Amino acid sequence: MALEIIVCIKPVPDPQYYDKVSIDPVTKIITRAGIPTIINPVDKNSIEAALRLKKLYGGNITVITMAPPNAVENLREALAMGADKAVLLSDRAFGGADTLATSYTLSKGIEKLGHFDVIFCGAESADGATAQVASQLGEWLNVPHLWNVFNIENQDEKTLRVKTKIENGSMEWKVKLPCLLGTSRDLNKPRFISAMGIIKAKNKPLQVWERKDLDAEDERLGLAGSPTKAGAVFTPDIKRKSEVLSGPADEIADKIIEKLRAAGVNIPVVDNACAIKGVSQ
Ligand SMILES: Cc1cc2nc3c(=O)[nH]c(=O)nc-3n(C[C@H](O)[C@H](O)[C@H](O)COP(=O)(O)OP(=O)(O)OC[C@H]3O[C@@H](n4cnc5c(N)ncnc54)[C@H](O)[C@@H]3O)c2cc1C
Repeated sequence: MALEIIVCIKPVPDPQYYDKVSIDPVTKIITRAGIPTIINPVDKNSIEAALRLKKLYGGNITVITMAPPNAVENLREALAMGADKAVLLSDRAFGGADTLATSYTLSKGIEKLGHFDVIFCGAESADGATAQVASQLGEWLNVPHLWNVFNIENQDEKTLRVKTKIENGSMEWKVKLPCLLGTSRDLNKPRFISAMGIIKAKNKPLQVWERKDLDAEDERLGLAGSPTKAGAVFTPDIKRKSEVLSGPADEIADKIIEKLRAAGVNIPVVDNACAIKGVSQ
């Protein structure tokens, strides 16, 4: 049985341009205009997982994103990695979405795609990082969903054996398809894109769907569908004093200890002071 696999990818600001990201003081919305984006790093682990499943069972991989028009570049990159087709959900009506409206809009795009067996999301994004979208999407689509997946074993084409990370350990699951998996970075190592992949990606199908293309309720889209309201946005007033200490390492170590003691840190006096100095050297 060939698998229909969907991978949700989110374009996030290129870390090299983080200092250019700002927040509109009135609307509290992130201003990202003109800032280049990359595929959210863990979403590449999702693409890799999808490619490995496809290799075992055959099928199709569709990458989908809800984002402004320039996200076609990110989708082309996903196609160059090996995905078969791409869908961009893009419309002013989707703007200002919180996680609930984002996951709702994605669910409507996925419903329009039709049958699916596995959906991959990243466990969390590098910018918003709420880690909510994967589970919310699973709920909208009414399929079993697991989060923080770091191991997938293929039982057969109807069931996957999946391990998820939890605090201080892990859990093992048998999950029936169709399902949604929120992938962790430890799941795999995403492959590099080959020159052939880039050439092939140019001819792979990439569709843009607007508001009118989705069978969705207006009040659940964009700002209107976003119960999250940012109260206040401010830059924390962190004042730090800095001082450069110079001299031989052991003298610097003594000065640091002196200053920490003066600041109230309880550092016991040790007979063998070399132990402390040894660490500092
Ligand atoms: C009041 C408010 C207003 C906002 N306004 C804007 C705005 O105007 N413009 C804006 O860009 N953001 C806006 N955001 C941020 C936006 O809500 C988040 O970017 C989005 O909901 C995803 O949340 P996250 O990054 O925390 O996802 P997470 O849950 O951390 O992401 C997990 C995974 O979900 C999937 N995923 C997440 N988002 C998408 C997506 N868009 N497409 C495909 N897959 C996805 C990916 O697989 C990702 O790895 C706003 C947020 C709030 C609270």
